[in-house]
Amino acid sequence: MTTVVERLHGRGPVFSVEFFPPRDSADELVLWRAIRELEPLDPAFVSITYGAGGSSRDFTIRTTGRVAQETTLVPMAHLTAVDHSVAELRNVIGWYAAVGVRNILAVRGDPPGDPNGEWVAHPDGLTYAEELVRLCRELGDFCVGVAAFPYGHPRSGDVDTDTEYLVRKLRAGADFAIAQLFFQPEDFLRLRDRVDALGCDTALLPGLMPLTTPRTLAKTIELSGAPVPPSVARRLDPFVDDPKGFRKAGVDLVTEMGDRLLAEGVPGLHFYTLNRSKATREVVARLGLVPARA
Ligand SMILES: Cc1cc2nc3c(=O)[nH]c(=O)nc-3n(C[C@H](O)[C@H](O)[C@H](O)COP(=O)(O)OP(=O)(O)OC[C@H]3O[C@@H](n4cnc5c(N)ncnc54)[C@H](O)[C@@H]3O)c2cc1C
Repeated sequence: MTTVVERLHGRGPVFSVEFFPPRDSADELVLWRAIRELEPLDPAFVSITYGAGGSSRDFTIRTTGRVAQETTLVPMAHLTAVDHSVAELRNVIGWYAAVGVRNILAVRGDPPGDPNGEWVAHPDGLTYAEELVRLCRELGDFCVGVAAFPYGHPRSGDVDTDTEYLVRKLRAGADFAIAQLFFQPEDFLRLRDRVDALGCDTALLPGLMPLTTPRTLAKTIELSGAPVPPSVARRLDPFVDDPKGFRKAGVDLVTEMGDRLLAEGVPGLHFYTLNRSKATREVVARLGLVPARA
C-alpha cells in the first residue's frame, strides 16, 4: 500500500481530499458517490476524519477499510486521543493495519460536546498529538501526519509557541502536516516560514475548502478561528443573496489561492470536501492537477 509521502514525492504537485464519516446509510451513499467521482482524478490520498465517539468511529474505521479494499485510492485514517486509553488506541491502530491502511493522521482531538471546553485526558490515555505520533510509529511501519494551524491553535497563547509545538510533533516522527483552513495564501506561507526558521523542512500541505455557499464561508471562519479579511469580504459580500454568483466568486477565489500556493512550491493541496466532489473537481481541473485522460 502506497504512503502519503510517496505520493507527495511524485512527479509534480498533487491534490488530496478529506471526508467525514457518514452518519447513516443515506449519508453513506452521498459519500460514496463523491469518492467514486473523485477516483478517476487520482487524488494523492483520501482521508477520513475520526469522530467524537461510538458509531461515528466505527464508520471511520469501516469507510477507511472500504477505501483500502474496494478502490484504487490511497486511504489515510484520522485518529484522536479523545476518550481512548492507550490500549484502545493500540487496538484501533492494529485494526487500521489489518485492513491495509498505512497512513494515519494523528490529532489530539477536542473535548466531546464542547470543542472549547477543558481538555481532560483519559486516565490511561494521551495528552498531546506528539504522543500519538510516537505510538503510531512504535506500532508499525505507518506514514504519520499531524495538524498545523496557520493562525495558531485556538488554545495556544501565541503563534511562535504553537509553531514550536508543531515542530516538536513533526520531530517526534511525523512525515507531513496538513494545515487548518485559512483565508489568504500568505497566512499559510507565514506558517511555513516559521517552521522553516526552526530548521524543520517536513512537508506542509495547505488545507482549502471550496467556498460555494455562505455556509462554507461560516465553516471556514469557525475552523480557521479568523475573521474574514477585507480582501475576501469584498469578493464575496456582493453575492450573499445570489447563490450562483457566490459560488462562482468563491470557487474563483479558492482557485486563485491554489494557484498562488502551487507557484510557491507546495507539494499538494488538501481539500476539505464536506463529502461532496463537484466544486473540488472544478478547482483541481482548473489548476491542472488532474491526469490528462480524466
Ligand atoms: C487537518 C486536520 C484534521 C483534523 N482531523 C480531526 C479529526 O479527524 N477528528 C477530530 O476530532 N479533530 C480533528 N481535527 C481537530 C483537532 O483535533 C483539534 O484542532 C485539536 O484541538 C488539536 O489537535 P492537535 O493534534 O493539533 O493537538 P496538539 O498538537 O496536541 O495540540 C493541542 C494544544 O496543545 C499545545 N501543545 C502541543 N504539544 C504540546 C506540549 N508538548 N506541551 C504543551 N502544549 C502543547 C498546542 O499548541 C495546542 O494548543 C483536525 C484538525 C486538522 C487541522
